[in-house]
Amino acid sequence: MDYDTYGSTAVELAIALANADLEPDGAVSRFLAAHDEWFTPGTSQDLAPSDARKAADTALLVRAVALAESQDDVLTRLNELLALARPRPYATDHDGELHLHYARPDAPVLEQLTTTVAMGLSQVMVQHGWQRLGVCSAEGCDDVYVDTSRNASRRYCSNTCASRSTVAAYRARQKS
Ligand SMILES: [Zn+2]
Ligand SMILES: [Zn+2]
Repeated sequence: MDYDTYGSTAVELAIALANADLEPDGAVSRFLAAHDEWFTPGTSQDLAPSDARKAADTALLVRAVALAESQDDVLTRLNELLALARPRPYATDHDGELHLHYARPDAPVLEQLTTTVAMGLSQVMVQHGWQRLGVCSAEGCDDVYVDTSRNASRRYCSNTCASRSTVAAYRARQKS
């Protein structure tokens, strides 16, 4: 997917967090380790038990934004998410490309996570419309996705779900 025109690749982290299963013991730590390119190198990934809860709450808020059906709902939920953020942006080129990071580099890992997720998601919503965040329409899948298609026509989280649904619809037609 091309996020270049999306102002923020950080929305990718928001989607990954919303779709992660954070319930099992240690799941939040595993998520942080798998996405450590988003955090300042050397940031401690030690979490207090309450931190795991907070990460799960952030994930639920991202999902709540995706499920919102009106701009009013989106505003309320997005502002709830933004209230958890502690933005202090800075410019960096650690990967060769000049870009912004939203959290101060020495912030604790959870603050970096929450801030990056809230700011990245808000950027996309504000610049491209709240309908761009959706929940997969495939049966048995409730993954969140961001719609980067030109005409905002996306309904599924992945090609797998899209083709699975096409096949199911075809079979349903054959039956009737
Ligand atoms: Zn970066
Ligand atoms: Zn799906």
